[in-house]
Amino acid sequence: MHYNGPIVRPQTDADSVFIEVTVGCTHNSCTFCNFYQDYPFRVAPLAQVEEDLKEAALLEPHAKKVWASGGNPYALPTEHLAKLAALFKRYLPEGRISTYARVDDLLRKSVEEMRRLKELGFEDIVVGMESGDDAVLSHTKKGYTAADILAGCKKLEEAGVDYRVIYLGGLAGRGKVHDSALKTAAVLDQIHPYMMILTTLALLPGTELWDEWQTGKFQEVTERERLDEFRTLLGHMENEIYVFSATSTNSMPFAVQLPAQREEIVAALTAEIDGMTDEWEAQMARMRHAMHSV
Ligand code: SF4
Repeated sequence: MHYNGPIVRPQTDADSVFIEVTVGCTHNSCTFCNFYQDYPFRVAPLAQVEEDLKEAALLEPHAKKVWASGGNPYALPTEHLAKLAALFKRYLPEGRISTYARVDDLLRKSVEEMRRLKELGFEDIVVGMESGDDAVLSHTKKGYTAADILAGCKKLEEAGVDYRVIYLGGLAGRGKVHDSALKTAAVLDQIHPYMMILTTLALLPGTELWDEWQTGKFQEVTERERLDEFRTLLGHMENEIYVFSATSTNSMPFAVQLPAQREEIVAALTAEIDGMTDEWEAQMARMRHAMHSV
């Protein structure tokens, strides 16, 4: 198998077959991200993809989950994605194809293109929205706005494509996460992802946000604030959605279906916040500051 860059995927997809289709991210500018710092964006040759699919088909011919790997493969031209889908289906016909998209990738595709790609096999798109708060999106150089999130996700919905979103807690900084969570809940209530993956910020060396933190321009949130942010977000979301929060940066793993389990998770988060000791805070902070990637 050819892996010329890191394989970044949600925890929920660790059991997928990973096929590299791009290396790096077209944007590569978010101030908190170092995933692809040393990996300029490039497209994997189709011959390489086919070779890897042949190998995967020998090992796992009935694979049900396949991950088209790269920072944001949905940025690729639709014709190229169509060729990739045909290859994936030739060698792993039972595999549901999942991949990452940036919000601006969604804006560049038409609903018809999205529908076609879904029919060809790109059925499940993971959108790293991170936040629905324009101040946060702008400060972290995400390259899109909350209105763009709405526009892009509504196109996926119109095309009938299943999609998930990722929320990155802590990005607003100390004292600002409550307001930021409320703004994000308002955005999420206007769209219909089938899952939200909750993660929380680890400041990573080599990133702009790390430098801002070192120079005091960015205040890292406390552990209590991280959970308080999740409590605000989940406590204000009205839509049907499965929420998964068990990533390497989260101190409290959980998975809940909203709105049915809203009171349950709000109570559990409250109990966790109330029971948190200063010693635990310090231990979590040390663990996070030792992270070089997530
Ligand atoms: S967070 Fe995502 S979009 Fe931003 S630079 Fe990293 S991989 Fe690219």
